[in-house]
Amino acid sequence: MAEKSFKYVIVGGGVSAGYAAREFAKQGVKPGELAIISKEGVAPYERPALSKAYLFPEGAARLPGFHTCVGSGGERLLPEWYTEKGINLILNTEIVKADLASKTLTSAAGETFTYKVLIIATGSTTLKLTDFGVEGASAKNILYLREIDDADKLVEAIKAKKNGKAVVVGGGYIGLELSAVLKINNFDVKMVYPEPWCMPRLFTADIAAFYESYYEKKGVSIIKGTVAVGFTSNDSGEVKEVKLKDGRVLEADIVVVGVGGRPLISLFKGQVEEEKGGIKTDGFFKTSVPDVYAVGDVATFPMKLYGDIRRVEHVDHSRKSAEQAVKAIFASEQGKEIADYDYLPYFYSRSFDLSWQFYGDNVGDSVIFGDHDPSSAKPKFGSYWINNGKVVGVFLEGGAPEENQAIAKVAKLQPPASSLDVLAKEGLDFASKI
Ligand code: FAD
Repeated sequence: MAEKSFKYVIVGGGVSAGYAAREFAKQGVKPGELAIISKEGVAPYERPALSKAYLFPEGAARLPGFHTCVGSGGERLLPEWYTEKGINLILNTEIVKADLASKTLTSAAGETFTYKVLIIATGSTTLKLTDFGVEGASAKNILYLREIDDADKLVEAIKAKKNGKAVVVGGGYIGLELSAVLKINNFDVKMVYPEPWCMPRLFTADIAAFYESYYEKKGVSIIKGTVAVGFTSNDSGEVKEVKLKDGRVLEADIVVVGVGGRPLISLFKGQVEEEKGGIKTDGFFKTSVPDVYAVGDVATFPMKLYGDIRRVEHVDHSRKSAEQAVKAIFASEQGKEIADYDYLPYFYSRSFDLSWQFYGDNVGDSVIFGDHDPSSAKPKFGSYWINNGKVVGVFLEGGAPEENQAIAKVAKLQPPASSLDVLAKEGLDFASKI
């Protein structure tokens, strides 16, 4: 098979790839110079839509509605856009071998691609219960959600098992978003997770208590402190029951599992330096190998604001890291310099009528403020985190755009705070004054 050669190749066609493509175009990439090679069959899209509007019973989001770069308020890059710009979108093509020394990639079908500069943007994959040897975990209708094909399987299962019973395994943001959307689809929903409260990596017990009782009010039952240890299936191999470690057995027509992810870096094992489970980069997303960059979920990069190095699996970072890498590539070709990446962590989630944002770092002591009564008509509350006398992180549920901007500013500037009590009393006013 003929070898295809490009000046720039992005391996992976997800969020980072889409934002990188837009930056390549801004920087004046020439037709034929850039290729995006993706395992998926569609042009880059805003992945967060898959666990939200994609699953709505009515008015569901569908492509081309959420191709990148609409998620951050930009222009939507339709497949035609790539054609117009002369950017090669090589879809349905999985790279199975990467030889960084000879700058060659090989696809599952045996095609080879060479490049001068490579951007690794392979993202993450979901952890599977079959990986942990959970009994019966390969039954039909035990589903995961990462790519659009997974979302389509879920949509089909929701239709086939109309008004049925769903068990959601995992209490992270995917578990919370999926439980909400399954409830909106009129399923009987049970959520199961081992931790004492949902989203424990970010939420304090106070924050979680609000979401858990809000969900209960919406009719989602929450079972905490135990895990799924096995599944039974019916004669057609479809899941029928979920067996829990505490001995309970739950009926299920659909099981959706969201127990975490793993960055996809195995193609590059032994060829590039790794750190904290990802590919180690500098503040320009350059890896230890010349001409190889890594962005998005796979990159472990210097977090300038906190003086440490981190890997971040969130959409805002995938967009910004991609743009930074492309700017750095062009700057180095032109012998120019750009500032290194200075990222303020930003996460968000939406479910039911709720919507929260978080900026900064959730370390140190925390305090909750505002109306966190789940029965309120319009709950609005937040939390501040104080570390070494400074406010380093802020969470806000139900904030207006200007309020969300105010909390972002607090997290960035890290103003001093005299006491948690004062912050609790001042609430959002503290942020608005900064
Ligand atoms: P991805 O967007 O995952 O793209 C990776 C791409 O690489 C995929 O197209 C994949 O098929 C391809 N690929 C992988 N290996 C190969 C290979 N060997 N050959 C070819 N192609 C390959 N973040 C938030 O901040 N807020 C949210 O509300 C939110 N919701 C989410 C909901 C869901 C359902 C999921 C799955 C994630 C969500 N995220 C959210 C996380 C966010 O989407 C990711 O952090 C982001 O997509 C990472 O971008 P990426 O480009 O690194 O990887």
